[in-house]
This record gives sequence, structure tokens and C-alpha cells, in this order.
Amino acid sequence: MAAQIIDGKAIAAEVRQQVAADVKSLQASHGLTPGLAVVLVGEDPASKVYVKNKAAQTVEVGMQSFEHKLPADTSEEDVLVLVQTLNADKNVNGILVQLPLPKHINAEKVLNSIDPNKDVDGFHPTNVGRLWIGERTLVPCTPTGSAILAKKIIPNLKGVNAVIIGRSNIVGKPMAALLLRESCTVTIAHSQTKDLPAVCRGADLLVAAVGRPEMVKRDWIKPGAVVIDVGINRVPGENGKTKLVGDVAYAECAEVAGAITPVPGGVGPMTIACLLQNTVTAAKMQYGIE
Ligand code: NDP
Repeated sequence: MAAQIIDGKAIAAEVRQQVAADVKSLQASHGLTPGLAVVLVGEDPASKVYVKNKAAQTVEVGMQSFEHKLPADTSEEDVLVLVQTLNADKNVNGILVQLPLPKHINAEKVLNSIDPNKDVDGFHPTNVGRLWIGERTLVPCTPTGSAILAKKIIPNLKGVNAVIIGRSNIVGKPMAALLLRESCTVTIAHSQTKDLPAVCRGADLLVAAVGRPEMVKRDWIKPGAVVIDVGINRVPGENGKTKLVGDVAYAECAEVAGAITPVPGGVGPMTIACLLQNTVTAAKMQYGIE
């Protein structure tokens, strides 16, 4: 039987609706309109598109959007000064520095200078620690979105065998922490894992975050498993054009899986929706609201 397709676009719209409702209720109860500041350094075309989309969606859910576009030759010192200004600004509840930064700027230094309570990307070491010890925190957006999609199919993840392929700090590791928090039995696979297909076949929930086009094949999937494809890979398409594919060979795996996310239209749309959700969470944390 063909797998259920997990519609990330529709579920992201639900998340944004909830965020808009939360913003309204914060305005009513505390006179507070959460604000998200996005810092873009340079002219990277993909980053410019992301920043534009983030700003548009921020305004759409009723929040304040502050865009800081700096020229590519901005010094590291000036970026650090801007972050300090945003850290101190009461109207700014979330700060996102768009990556990649130009090579002369130390991205780690800049990210670590963000106030952890405004770190809506959830990359600050303080937030990484809080996530692993189970404290209230800001969790990276892509794993949060992936977990929401998984829970649409398996609302109670307790005891579920989850395999994550990939151990990056922005996807694989926080995904593992989130699924552990849901009481999954978590396996993290990576480039040194032995017999990866066999490891994947043990998964009731398989999350692929590798960056290798269509690496996961049909016979890696346990029949009925839920497959979340985080990968975004641009490959040659028809008529000299390019197309996006995930890390999972979608058509063949959809014949075996119970449910599967498409690429595009799966995890991708969830990331910005969860960024907006994090901005509301950040504002609540800053004002001590449950
Ligand atoms: P990284 O390159 O940082 O990490 C990739 C991981 O995959 C590494 O842990 C690596 O293992 C592992 N890996 C690489 N090759 C293999 C292999 N042959 N077998 C098993 N494991 C392997 O990537 P990211 O985590 O940043 O991103 C992963 C994918 O997700 C990319 O396609 C990216 O574009 C996409 N992405 C999508 C987002 C969205 O919004 N939907 C947001 C962020 C990322 P090792 O550690 O051993 O090298």
C-alpha cells in the first residue's frame, strides 16, 4: 500500500495559525508584541530569499520584524556590536544571524555572542545544554519541525525505535535529543556506521539528515515505518533545469513506508514556522510567562 504523504505545507500553516493566536493573546494579556531581528551580512542570493521569507511570515503572524542588512565587507567587530545592541533591545525577543557569514567573520563567535534567551535558532551552547538536560529552552527549528511532523502520524512516540542518519549540530544531534525527550529509543547513524541499511531497517521512525541525494533506498525501510526526509539537494532535472530531491529515494520508499515527507513540501516549510514559534517562546521566557 502506498504511504501516507505528510503534508509539511499544511502542517506549517497550522503552526503559523497557532503562533498568530499566541501573539494575539500575548498582546491582550501583557501588551507584548514579540519581535524578531534578522541579521544578514553580504549578498548570498539564497540567504536573501530566506531572509525575505522570514520577514514576510513574521509580519503575517502579527509580530514585529527587524531586518539588518549589512554589506559583505562589514567587520566582525561591527557585527558583534550590532548583536550586543539587539541583545539589549527590549523590542527584540529573538535574534537570528543568517548563515553562512562571510569568511572573515567567525560565525561561532558571533552566534555565541547572542543572548541565549533570544537565540531563536537554538544553536547557543547554553541552549544545547538546556535541551540535553531537559530544561525549558529554544530548540533548533528544523528538528522541532521534523518532530511535529512525526507526531502527526505517531502522536505518542514512547518506546518507538527511531533512527536518525546524520549527527550535525543543527539537525542530527538536536533531533536525537528531542526524540529521546519523547522516550524514543534513539540510534544516531553517521558516515562511520556499519551496515547502515540494516540499522535503518530497525526503525519505526527514520529521519534522514545527510545531504546525499536519494541515498536511502526502498529495502532500507521497515514496512509501515514513518520516514522524515530532512535533506534538500539540488540535482540536474529535465531540459537542463535543476530540481530538489531529499536524502530518501521518495517514489520507491513510499511503496514500503507507512508515511513519508515529500521534498519539497515536507520538512522545509516547517523550519520558518518553528522559528516564529521560537520567537513567541523566547518572548514568554523573557517575561516569565508559562
Ligand atoms: P551536515 O553535512 O552537517 O551533516 C551530514 C551528516 O550526514 C553527518 O553527520 C555525516 O556523518 C552524515 N553522513 C554523510 N554521509 C553519510 C553516509 N554516506 N552515510 C551515513 N551518514 C552520512 O548536514 P546538515 O545536518 O546540516 O544537513 C543535512 C541535510 O539536511 C542537508 O541536505 C541539508 O540541506 C538539509 N537541511 C534542511 C533543512 C530544512 O529546513 N529542511 C535545514 C537544515 C539542513 P559524519 O558526521 O560522520 O561526517
